[in-house]
Amino acid sequence: MSPTLTDMTPTADCLFCAIIAGDEPATWVLSTPAVVGFLDVRPVFKGHVLLMPRQHIDTLTELPDQLVHPLFADVRRTAAAVRDGLGAQGTFVALNNTVSQSVPHLHVHVVPRTRGDGLRGFFWPRTRYADAAEAEHYATRVRTELDCQRRG
Ligand code: AMP
Repeated sequence: MSPTLTDMTPTADCLFCAIIAGDEPATWVLSTPAVVGFLDVRPVFKGHVLLMPRQHIDTLTELPDQLVHPLFADVRRTAAAVRDGLGAQGTFVALNNTVSQSVPHLHVHVVPRTRGDGLRGFFWPRTRYADAAEAEHYATRVRTELDCQRRG
């Protein structure tokens, strides 16, 4: 069952819960009743921010409806602040879920980007669909699952 907004109990052994509780240091950039943001200690580029719900939630699929707007509204304004405040041209916004997620407390990376900054291709090897039929097959599987979810 999804936790509720009032379920603010820090999860033991969660580094980000410890930071949010003030038990571990961080360089803070944002703090609201629902959302916090601080600098990534090992930034891709300086000014790389991590935003997350105050409440311990493991991954995006567990994020309760009432936290979707505050979290992603703060991601949007932080993306603008990182771009404009740091004189960057844009941002890279990313969120690892389980795979490649080293801290199991949902967090969104907001990384300043400037053309020629050297971040080429990042960590995403790319592949190709064999043909349009294979692409359609993958799209159908996702659409079918979306329809199932909509119907409940
Ligand atoms: P991910 O690999 O997507 O789970 O991202 C976790 C991020 O947390 C990494 O980019 C780390 O550099 C960052 N990180 C780890 N420990 C800390 C810390 N104590 N304070 C701030 N960021 C941290």
